[in-house]
Amino acid sequence: MTLSLNDLPLRDDLRGLTPYGAPQAPLPIALNVNENTHPIPDAVASDILDDIALAIRDVNRYPDREFTTLRESFAEYLGHGLTPEQIWAGNGSNEVLQHILQAFGGPGRTAFGFAPTYSMYPLIAQGTGARWIPGTRQPDYTITPEEAAEQVRTADPDVIILCTPNNPTGTPLGLDVVEAVYEAARGIVIVDEAYQEFAPHDAPSALTLLEGRPRLAVSRTMSKAFAFAGARVGYLAADPTFIDALRLVRLPYHLSTLTQAAAVAALRNSDVMLGMVEEIVEQRDRITATLEALGYTPHESWSNFVLFGGIADPRATWQQLFDRGVLVRDVGIPGHLRVSAGTEAETTAFLDALASIGSAS
Ligand SMILES: *Cc1c(COP(=O)(O)O)cnc(C)c1O
Repeated sequence: MTLSLNDLPLRDDLRGLTPYGAPQAPLPIALNVNENTHPIPDAVASDILDDIALAIRDVNRYPDREFTTLRESFAEYLGHGLTPEQIWAGNGSNEVLQHILQAFGGPGRTAFGFAPTYSMYPLIAQGTGARWIPGTRQPDYTITPEEAAEQVRTADPDVIILCTPNNPTGTPLGLDVVEAVYEAARGIVIVDEAYQEFAPHDAPSALTLLEGRPRLAVSRTMSKAFAFAGARVGYLAADPTFIDALRLVRLPYHLSTLTQAAAVAALRNSDVMLGMVEEIVEQRDRITATLEALGYTPHESWSNFVLFGGIADPRATWQQLFDRGVLVRDVGIPGHLRVSAGTEAETTAFLDALASIGSAS
């Protein structure tokens, strides 16, 4: 007899839930989880390996619990006059978000975001015992400061997560919305800038709003622009007191010696690591233009992926692309699919496969 989850004394609030599950399939063209599909350059890989080789000689000891050098590196990379005391990091920004929800969410509390947004937010909220409240957006996925503030006042959440550019839609969010939400909120406001490096260079970051806003945090990741998804490194900037709150919930020594060494070496090479960003943005814009020509309706994107509508049967189209060796993402929005911008060759393979399927609905 196979056991089911109901046979175990699982927490009541976890019964009936399904885990995060982007399909993992070994297809030649994988454009489904917004990775940077360019491998890191050989010279940088060797440099990182040299540092890992040194670091592994110390793995008999616990790592630096305060990941001091890494925090210095992130402060320098982010600029905006940030100091290491304002930096936090974890094994992916998902862990950083989990720390925030453990510290400021939890049982009896609520977390809020404007749907459709990153599918991990409700899961991290639920996993830490908080209730997720989905807000709404305009049909084009934008949101005005007034509407945003009104929804936040009504929901009165303990934690608010604003994703910009938003996953899975690619939509940018003005800093005026962040300011309005912060004013309207009593709780913590997180701005998730996982895709900020793909936005136009003159687009201001919410990092510029941190001064004088102790409930605000801006999270970033090395998983996307930095081509470091497999290394698992995410980070945030906030007031030093906010950072102290996260120390209450993290597991001691949560960032391994090897992770810290790899991330510091990668940040030392950030110019080269980010060298493919312009190329990816070019492919993203090419996807948008070609989808339009094919009769689909791509949404404006400031990230490394494009959400597009005008698909009669997304599941069928997803399967037809799969059968042609191309993996994209069905994010559950009716009539839509999401595709990551790959290398020029991968992008061509996707566009050719889609064109061979037939035209939009
Ligand atoms: C990919 C992504 C992240 C990054 O997650 P990691 O745990 O750092 O890999 C964070 N937020 C959003 C919205 C994302 O799409």
